Amino acid sequence: MPSSNRPTINLYSDTQTRPTAAMREAMAYAEVGDEQRDQDPTVTRLCERVAAMLGQPRAVFLPSGTMANEIAMLVHCRPGDEILCDKTAHILNIEGGGPSALAGAVMTGLDGDRGRFTAEQVRAAIRPVSRYLPRTRVVAMEQTANLGGGTVWPVDQARAVGDAARAAGLAVHMDGARLLNATCALGVAPVDFGRLCDSVWIDLSKGLGCPVGAVLAGSSDFIDEVWRWKQRMGGAMRQAGILAAAGLYALDHHVARLAEDQANARAFALALSDCPGIRIDLTSVQTNIVYFDVPGRDAAAVVERLAAAGVDIGSMGPQTLRAVTHLDVNANDIALAASLVRSVLAKQ
Ligand SMILES: *Cc1c(COP(=O)(O)O)cnc(C)c1O
Repeated sequence: MPSSNRPTINLYSDTQTRPTAAMREAMAYAEVGDEQRDQDPTVTRLCERVAAMLGQPRAVFLPSGTMANEIAMLVHCRPGDEILCDKTAHILNIEGGGPSALAGAVMTGLDGDRGRFTAEQVRAAIRPVSRYLPRTRVVAMEQTANLGGGTVWPVDQARAVGDAARAAGLAVHMDGARLLNATCALGVAPVDFGRLCDSVWIDLSKGLGCPVGAVLAGSSDFIDEVWRWKQRMGGAMRQAGILAAAGLYALDHHVARLAEDQANARAFALALSDCPGIRIDLTSVQTNIVYFDVPGRDAAAVVERLAAAGVDIGSMGPQTLRAVTHLDVNANDIALAASLVRSVLAKQ
C-alpha cells in the first residue's frame, strides 16, 4: 500500500530526530562565548551538569560520540596497547577502525551475551605482562549494547567488570551513547554506572533528540588530556553554547520520556511477534531497539518494500532488520508501522 500523502514513519535510528520548536527556542536564546577558551557559559553549564550526573569531577563537550570514544582511547592507550570490548562493540565495528588508526591500539572483541560480557571473561582475556604481548590497557563497555539489540548491562555486572579491570590496573571506559535509555529501563541513576568508570560519555543526538553533540566525563587529569586531543583534532569550538543549550533542554525535558520510546519498542515487537514471516525474540527487546529476522527473505529487499510502503527500517544483516523508536514517533505511528510491516510481509 504505497502512500503518497502520508509522511514516512522513520524507525531507522534514534539519530533521526529533529530538534523540537521548544529546543530550537532554547538554542536561539542561548548565552554564548568562546568554548575553546572555556568562556562559553552554556557549554560550561552542560559539562558541569553531565559531570555531576555521572559522578565524575569534570566533563567536556564534543561534536560526536565517536570523537568521545576515540579521544578516550587516545588518552588511555599507547600504541600497541589492547582494548577489551564486546565483539559487537561500536568502537570495534562502526568507527572505521579508529582506535587502531589513531591510538595504535589492538582491539579484542570478547564473546559476550548480546553485547555484554562478564568479569570472568575479562579476567581470562587480560594478558600477562610480557614483551611479546600487547599490553591490555582498557575495558570498554557499551550501555546500551547497540548491536546487541539495545540490551542493558545490569549495575552488578558492570560493577564486577569494572572491579576486575581495576584489579589488573586497566582503565574502565563506558560508551554511554544510550546510557540514559538503560538507566530508564533499570530505574537507577546514571551515577550508578558513571562512578564505576574512568571515562564515560553520553550522546545528545540519539534518544535525547539534539542535533549534535556528546559529553565525555572523567577525572580532572583525564579531562586535561582530552582537551589536548580535542584541540589537536579540531574538535574545539567557538560559540558552541547554541548546541549545548539543546543538550541542557534535552536533559530537562527528554529524559523521563525515554520510557515512552521503550513502551513503543515493546508494542512494536509485540505486534510483530505473531506476524507470519517474522522471527523475533521478545526477551531481546529491552530498550528502544527492536531487532527481528525475516527468515528466507533478503532483508535489503524487505527494507526497500517497507520504504515504499512508508516505513523506514534499517537492514543489519542478510535476514535481519532493526527498528529504533524515538522522540519523533508516537504510539499511533508504531501501530501503523506494525500493520504496514505485516502487510508487506504478507506479500510474496
Ligand atoms: C551512535 C553511537 C556511537 C557514536 O556516536 P555519534 O554521536 O553518532 O558519533 C558510539 N557508540 C554507540 C553505541 C552508538 O550507538
